[in-house]
Amino acid sequence: MKDFQAFGHKTAARLAFHVLNWNEEQTNEFLNSIITAKKNLKYCSKCFNITDTDPCPICSSPKRNQDSICVVEDVRDVAAMERTHEFKGVYHVLHGSISPMNGVGPDDIKIKELLARLMEGKVKEVILATNPRVEGEATAMYLSKLIKPLGIKVSRIAHGIPVGGDLEYTDEVTLTKALEGRREM
Ligand SMILES: [Zn+2]
Repeated sequence: MKDFQAFGHKTAARLAFHVLNWNEEQTNEFLNSIITAKKNLKYCSKCFNITDTDPCPICSSPKRNQDSICVVEDVRDVAAMERTHEFKGVYHVLHGSISPMNGVGPDDIKIKELLARLMEGKVKEVILATNPRVEGEATAMYLSKLIKPLGIKVSRIAHGIPVGGDLEYTDEVTLTKALEGRREM
């Protein structure tokens, strides 16, 4: 049950309040919708975003620019970037950041998978949109050193996002500015 702490107290309280008033049918309906969602959700085999189709709608969209990849730490960061409507490329979700303090090395996140995508030779630009924290910066530096020798343009979002901040909680304007103000690494 510890996992449910991720919901936060307010959400949990609201949910409990509703559940209390449900009849058996409503309760079963709710449980079934969770089971169905759980069954259909998977990670996109290209970008590792959460999806119910593989490749995900972003990777398979003809409107998205396949030669520009925005690298983020978390699936929630994809949603945050999408809310800006500014980025027309595709994503790569690392599922974490390099953090020696927590025993997370480059092999523990989706770096190999990113390099495999770059090796296909179609990507011209990689935008490193990891969080502006110690781990996110270290991950960006590490990736930049790996990617630049491949002859691919590497840029880092900078501006606007407060140091120690989270992409997920950053408003669209700030995030748009950060994307516009990206610098080559
Ligand atoms: Zn995808």
